[in-house]
Amino acid sequence: MTILRRSLSSSRFANLPWIDGIITGITTGSIHRRTRRILISLALGTAILLFILGTPAQAVQVQIQPMEPQLGDTISAVIQADAASEPPTVMMNQKSYPTFAIGSNRYRALLPTTPLDSPGNLTIQVNAGQNTNNSSQPVTLQLRDREFPTQSIWLSGDADSLGTDHEFDRVDAFKALVTPEKLWSGAFQRPNQGEISTIYGVRRYYNGEFAQDYFHRGVDYAAPVGDPVVAPAAGTIALVGRVEDGFELHGNTIGIDHGQGVESILIHLSRIDVKEGDVVQAGQQIGAVGSTGAATGPHLHWGLYVNSQCVDPVPWRNEGFE
Ligand SMILES: [Zn+2]
Repeated sequence: MTILRRSLSSSRFANLPWIDGIITGITTGSIHRRTRRILISLALGTAILLFILGTPAQAVQVQIQPMEPQLGDTISAVIQADAASEPPTVMMNQKSYPTFAIGSNRYRALLPTTPLDSPGNLTIQVNAGQNTNNSSQPVTLQLRDREFPTQSIWLSGDADSLGTDHEFDRVDAFKALVTPEKLWSGAFQRPNQGEISTIYGVRRYYNGEFAQDYFHRGVDYAAPVGDPVVAPAAGTIALVGRVEDGFELHGNTIGIDHGQGVESILIHLSRIDVKEGDVVQAGQQIGAVGSTGAATGPHLHWGLYVNSQCVDPVPWRNEGFE
């Protein structure tokens, strides 16, 4: 009962991010929402904020970047503690995110945002150590609204019944991975040299109805069957799924765990050159473009996940998160 289960948290067509790529018969437009004024007077860049936790001996310094995030951005929160302590946790809008050591008494959390978030206030708070009650004063950022293109798609029949429990379970478990070691280094590479055919975040109307829970969870590259697919960054192959094993929606699939809650998923492949457990380097060929699964033509779909949420890969491709 895949669809029943999925419908609990999704609108009817929300699980169809994969029917994408080269689609005929779509119309495009854009959602215009009033762009909100940014209330923060700081220029783009990093803010250094000093929090006092309990006593002055427990002061922590927090750097947040970018200070003017927009929907889909990943927010980096770097915490410098005065003294050795347990890894802190970071709360954003009441949700807790892990931190990882990136230096002496220095920790980082990566906080995802998506097109489904509401623009406006983002409240970030640091909790020093899991066994203490020391919480920082919350800091409020403004999450900027952003226009995403829209597509209108007309479906008939049982298009929404595609997908097996097996593939959903495996993909969900993959996206939830949080392994402590950071394996990527520097900016991410593009996984294929084809032209981008659909950007991140495109919203849809299905049969004339706006799909509230849908956004294009990745970037599509148009390329012929057999064109190389490379790892966008180093990592461990944590998921290999094949059509014959029930990956009817995603098609042949590779999932790369880059560490610290960051994962790439590459789908619709014609060929898979790696196996689970392999360690791959940035730029290493791992498979080839195809049109397996629910794809209307050959293309590569690359989705980038941070703490289970699909984020815009563009900032990761440009500057990256060291
Ligand atoms: Zn796609």
